[in-house]
Amino acid sequence: MITKQNLHMHSVWDDGHDTCLDMLEACRAIGFTSAGVSLHSPMPFTNDWAPGADGVQPYIRELAGLKGRFQKDFRVLAGIEWDVLSDPALMDGFDYVIGSVHHLPVKDVPPSVDNTPEELRQTVNEHFGGDADAAAACYFRELLKVAAEPRVQICGHFDLLLKFNEQQRIFNPESCAYQVAAKTALDALLDAGKVFEINTGAISRGWRSVPYPERRWLTEIAKRGGQVLLASDAHRAAHVATFFEESEMLLRSLGFDHVVELAADGTFVPVSLSV
Ligand SMILES: [Zn+2]
Ligand SMILES: [Zn+2]
Repeated sequence: MITKQNLHMHSVWDDGHDTCLDMLEACRAIGFTSAGVSLHSPMPFTNDWAPGADGVQPYIRELAGLKGRFQKDFRVLAGIEWDVLSDPALMDGFDYVIGSVHHLPVKDVPPSVDNTPEELRQTVNEHFGGDADAAAACYFRELLKVAAEPRVQICGHFDLLLKFNEQQRIFNPESCAYQVAAKTALDALLDAGKVFEINTGAISRGWRSVPYPERRWLTEIAKRGGQVLLASDAHRAAHVATFFEESEMLLRSLGFDHVVELAADGTFVPVSLSV
C-alpha cells in the first residue's frame, strides 16, 4: 500500500464505535504517517449520528491533546465532515474540511440517503412520485453546495446515493437524466478544485464491492486532471484502510499516476502511485 494517510474516520464523538485514540493508533499500526478524525457536523434537526453543537469545542480540544501524544513520525489532524445542511460557521477551528451530502431536503427533518434501502425507496416514492431520476437530481443539486463552499477542500463520497444500489436497484445511473445531474455536480467540483475521495466506507459495511465515486466518474476525473485521495470513512478501528490496496490498483488502471495527501502546511501534495 502506497497511501500513508487517511482523513475520513469517525469516533464515539459521532456515530463511530471506537475512540479517536483507537482510530489513530490503528492508522499508525498499519504504517500510516498521518491521519485525521473527521467529526460529523452538528445538524439543525434531531438525529442520532451527529453531535450537538456543544460537542464541537470539546472534540477539538481532545484532538489537540492527541496531537501531542504521538511522536513526530505520526501527525494527527482534526477534521470535520461538513454536511451541506449544517451551519458553515461550524467549519471554524478544524485542520481540514470534507463536504458531504447525506440528506434530500424535502421536509423539515430531511430523510437520509444512507440510512436504509427501505427508507431511501420510501423517500423516492413519497417525495418524488417514484421518479428516481428526480431524487438523484435533488441529491446532485445539493452537492453543488460543496463546490460552492470555499472552505471545503474534499468532496465526500460523491455518489453516496448509490450506497444500496448493488443490492437493491433504486437508481438507474445509466439514465440520461441521472448522468446529466451527476456530471453537472462533477464539473462544478472540478472547476472549484475540490479533491475527490475514493471512499471505501460502504465496502467495510458490506453494502458495496467498489468505492465511491463510480468508475465512469473516476475516469472523467482522471481525464480532467482532478485530484483524488483514499478515504475509508471508517466507523471502527478495524476498518481504517479497508480496500486501500485494491483502490490504488483501480486508480492505476484508470490512468491515475498519483493520489494526494494533505501536507503539514495545509496544501495537498502528490504521492506517486508507481510501485
Ligand atoms: Zn458521510
Ligand atoms: Zn463520514
